[in-house]
Amino acid sequence: MIIVMSNVATEEQIESVIKRIEEKGLEANVSRGTERTVIGAIGDERSLDPELLESLPGVEQALHIVKPYKIVAREWHKEDTVIDIQGNLIGGKQIQIISGPCSVETPDQMEKSAKAVKAAGVRLMRGGAFKPRTSPYTFQGTGVEGLEMFRKAADKEGLPIVTELMDARQLDTFMKYKVDVIQIGTRSMQNFELLKEVGKVNVPVILKRGMSATISEWLMAAEYIAAGGNHNIIFCERGIRTFETYYRNVLDVTAIPVLKKETHLPVIVDPSHAGGKAWMVAALSRAAIAAGADGLLVEMHPNPCEAWCDADQAINPQELISLMAELRGIAKVIGREIL
Ligand code: PEP
Ligand code: MN
Repeated sequence: MIIVMSNVATEEQIESVIKRIEEKGLEANVSRGTERTVIGAIGDERSLDPELLESLPGVEQALHIVKPYKIVAREWHKEDTVIDIQGNLIGGKQIQIISGPCSVETPDQMEKSAKAVKAAGVRLMRGGAFKPRTSPYTFQGTGVEGLEMFRKAADKEGLPIVTELMDARQLDTFMKYKVDVIQIGTRSMQNFELLKEVGKVNVPVILKRGMSATISEWLMAAEYIAAGGNHNIIFCERGIRTFETYYRNVLDVTAIPVLKKETHLPVIVDPSHAGGKAWMVAALSRAAIAAGADGLLVEMHPNPCEAWCDADQAINPQELISLMAELRGIAKVIGREIL
């Protein structure tokens, strides 16, 4: 960390900053210029809080020089991390599509969904049993019963399942149903206690971006999971809030190359919650894959008009088949593949 003292800082104030640095077990390197003094803190600077240092008299600015995240940073792990979900790889040459309904509704709906996922050549299935809804008066998900329906339908087609965990108290149930990928939704990205809990299990996690989260906050949220020991994290860009109201969210395509630079972990995109309309899904999916995403999370319903949740943005089974064909073409052009 670099601490820049003000041009009127006294010797006493400089000494007090040095004392703070040394108290944390770091070394202070003092450089006295003609106008001001700059102090370098050498050692693990993550233990130093720049805001605390800036509150000291005579300090003008305190700046971190290394990234505040470590395990998830590419700085410390150059190669791409490839995550294996029951033999399906995410993060390497292959691009993985994950599809299924927004929510688990009935055994029949899940059976049809699983069949449609399989028929399109998609290898992983999504579906929410516990739904984070804006209103407490709308459908909240089918809960544990939903997990049961999901597991059954997916097993029949041999598909690993991806489902959202909202409450750490449900983690044992998720283990019982052998959930293959735990999804942390946009509204939970900074639920640090939940992140710590999923950090303790050995199940891959899809960490969605908070709808108003900066990339750095998102990386720090992943670091919470990683710090607990679970390094199988997949970032999912799902659109952010802006001033625009024409669509549900703005798909931040720019975040894809930025994340690929900052982290070695896979990055996928959810075009459904970004645009919020089924007719936008194909265009946003193409953009995401072309920009370097390692996969997609797409909402598909056997009968979108009858979906209990997010009906407007679900594509139908036929559209999923066409989308897959289109994406295979793009993958080939950029030297990747969709199996
Ligand atoms: C979902 O995937 O169904 C969902 C609720 O997504 P998000 O957390 O991105 O809103
Ligand atoms: Mn949804």
